[in-house]
Amino acid sequence: MNSSGDRVIGRSKNDGISAFTSPDHPMARSPDLFCSVNSLKNTDLIIGVLALQGDFDAHRQTLDRLGVRNVPVRKPEELDGIDGLVIPGGESSTFLKFLEREGFLNKLRDFVSRKPAFGTCAGAILLAKEVVNPSQPSLGALDIAIQRNAYGRQIDSSIMTGTTKLGGDPLEMVFIRAPRIERVGASVQVLAERENHPVLVRDGQILAATFHPELSNDLRVHEFFLQMVKEAKSPTSTPQRDGLN
Ligand code: GLN
Repeated sequence: MNSSGDRVIGRSKNDGISAFTSPDHPMARSPDLFCSVNSLKNTDLIIGVLALQGDFDAHRQTLDRLGVRNVPVRKPEELDGIDGLVIPGGESSTFLKFLEREGFLNKLRDFVSRKPAFGTCAGAILLAKEVVNPSQPSLGALDIAIQRNAYGRQIDSSIMTGTTKLGGDPLEMVFIRAPRIERVGASVQVLAERENHPVLVRDGQILAATFHPELSNDLRVHEFFLQMVKEAKSPTSTPQRDGLN
């Protein structure tokens, strides 16, 4: 852990998640994070999927399977009226080129500072506070440092199975030219890891995966995001930073 309470991966590998892994912690007692927080249903939500580039269609199909209304977001004004946003995988530098137009980047930055967002792979890179290899602008909503294309060219794609804090069976994780999370801030919950590096993280209303849950049949990661959106939208629930109650 560094002086700000961050977990710097590779240097002090278990620091920063000690509260999370303590046997007394509610999450450790209950592996199932899908506790009911309110009476909202999937059909009460409208989820936007950033559809400038990348595999937005796979996310939309997953959301269709979950019975959620979902709309493509191609213009800044289409962020108005959605309850949460999915930022898909693709090429983060190409996303940035599109986002530089019409003040889209600023509007998106404002959106993710107020409302739930879920980024996969390039989407996780866009949400991160710090991007390296090379360094590039980002939305700064998720307190992590992330290294692009960290697994190199030869093994740039792989399918693995790993346990998660979401409960249930191990989860299939599809990595495609994946980035690697190198540091997580004290506010970040690590929900799954690969070789001691976080691959699924939550920071308040922001969820990010360095793999592609939209390419697997398992719906748990998207369901978890919908739960976060319901927490944020429900007038009766107190927004939870950690989703434990
Ligand atoms: N390599 C891509 C990037 O750096 C991300 C790959 C992906 O989204 N599958 O933006």
